[in-house]
Amino acid sequence: MKKLISFFALTLMMFYSGCKSSSDFPITDLHIHIKGGFTIDDAIAKSKQEHITYGLAVNCGLGFPVHTDAQIDSVLNFYKKYPQFLLAMQAEGREWLNIFSKESLNKFDYIFTDGMTFTDAKGRRNRIWMKDETWIDNEQEFMDYLANTIEKIISTEPINIYVNPTYLPAQMADRYDIFWTPERMDKVINAAKTHKVAIEINNRFKIPSVAFVARAKKAGVKFTVGTNNADKNFSGAEYALDVIKKCGLTKDDFYMPVNKRVNGSL
Ligand SMILES: [Zn+2]
Repeated sequence: MKKLISFFALTLMMFYSGCKSSSDFPITDLHIHIKGGFTIDDAIAKSKQEHITYGLAVNCGLGFPVHTDAQIDSVLNFYKKYPQFLLAMQAEGREWLNIFSKESLNKFDYIFTDGMTFTDAKGRRNRIWMKDETWIDNEQEFMDYLANTIEKIISTEPINIYVNPTYLPAQMADRYDIFWTPERMDKVINAAKTHKVAIEINNRFKIPSVAFVARAKKAGVKFTVGTNNADKNFSGAEYALDVIKKCGLTKDDFYMPVNKRVNGSL
């Protein structure tokens, strides 16, 4: 009888933990956007319901609504009412380094950027999530330039996380494993390790690959979980949970920023 009871208790426990997430530690999604009909109230409800802590990211950069220090202050003022969320600057383009003060950067809990916007060797501005703004004369050369660009971003920009990592333009994404050779992976991984930049495991784009994460883990790189939602249609952290399981990642493999509104430093 005792055995039977403990069997039921165990089943019940598995059922409940299965409802939350399948990792042994709580998940924090550090790349959530309030946009596309997804409101701050939705974020409060969804974060609670799915047992995932959120870091909300503000897009800052040239050509974006937030492009001055004063605008950063008014945005941060709004978020003061929501100390349960971590706050991130998503640095856009490559010009952001020259338009915001160091003081403004320090007001965020963490800063991240991606390698999806860059100017190529011929001076053309690429935004590689848009087909008609991506210039591919030769795929291998494009890949070398992209890997070098990511290495440079990680090595020179004051960021905590490299997000949307290893993202490929639509024309090439179906051959991810061919383009992301071990040499190119190592270029990005070594830069991240050297400069203590974490790499996001992105739920929306399902990147980087398991092979990449396993390699980065071996090198001692830290990770984060991020979704980069376009709207309210996202849930859980399915891809990240899958990668965590397959690569045997533990809490110690993750970078966790400090919430400055909670710890009193802001
Ligand atoms: Zn984003």
